[in-house]
Amino acid sequence: MKRNVSLAEISDGRLYGRNDMVKADCHGCGGCSDCCRGMGKSVILDPYDVYRLETGLGKGFEALLQEGAAELNVVDGCILPNLSMSGQEEACVFLDGHGRCGIHEFRPGICRLFPLGRYYQDGDYKYILQTHECSAGNRSKVKVSKWIDTPQQEKYHEFICRWHSLLNELEALVGDCGDEAVAKQANMALLKIFYMAEYGTGQDFYVQFWERYMRFKEALQEITDSRDL
Ligand code: SF4
Ligand code: SF4
Repeated sequence: MKRNVSLAEISDGRLYGRNDMVKADCHGCGGCSDCCRGMGKSVILDPYDVYRLETGLGKGFEALLQEGAAELNVVDGCILPNLSMSGQEEACVFLDGHGRCGIHEFRPGICRLFPLGRYYQDGDYKYILQTHECSAGNRSKVKVSKWIDTPQQEKYHEFICRWHSLLNELEALVGDCGDEAVAKQANMALLKIFYMAEYGTGQDFYVQFWERYMRFKEALQEITDSRDL
């Protein structure tokens, strides 16, 4: 989700790499669950999140949609899923009765980052420390790579960069063409290929992602070609 704000408004102004230390560690949150409530549609799921959820919950993405755990929304012209918030407090559906994350082991990437965010530039990204997001006052320094708690970080980084570029490409196509049918076709291809088709949960995610990536690029080309006819 793109935000039209300056770095100075939302962060400490620094850009962090994976090996940098950042003041993000809130020591297990100490009973706070503020960032698991009232987050609207902002906990957007990428394909790796869906793979992790499918592996951890033992159910596919369609089941998550049917149960109301996830929902579809339009983000910068692309139809993408996000975790649902529910009830009076608009709490994440995976927040348990003790105010703890019920899927901590396989929580989405956005939750792993928080209160860090990503700042994209020239096909790559750095991390930022969002200064108005986490209410913990006693945060200490932690290495970024440790904080995001994700294996195979080189591969993860490459995946995130490519995924971001792909969404930009889709957004440009949808925005430029002014053709609702084309926009719908392209968005349906994205949903079917990266979300609806279940992942082989015992298999490497990245192998599956790159195969799907090629398939989506071909689908996008076909959609573009048919539009040019
Ligand atoms: S706001 Fe900060 S302390 Fe509270 S749950 Fe989120 S990360 Fe933890
Ligand atoms: S998945 Fe877990 S960490 Fe993320 S918003 Fe829901 S309860 Fe919070």
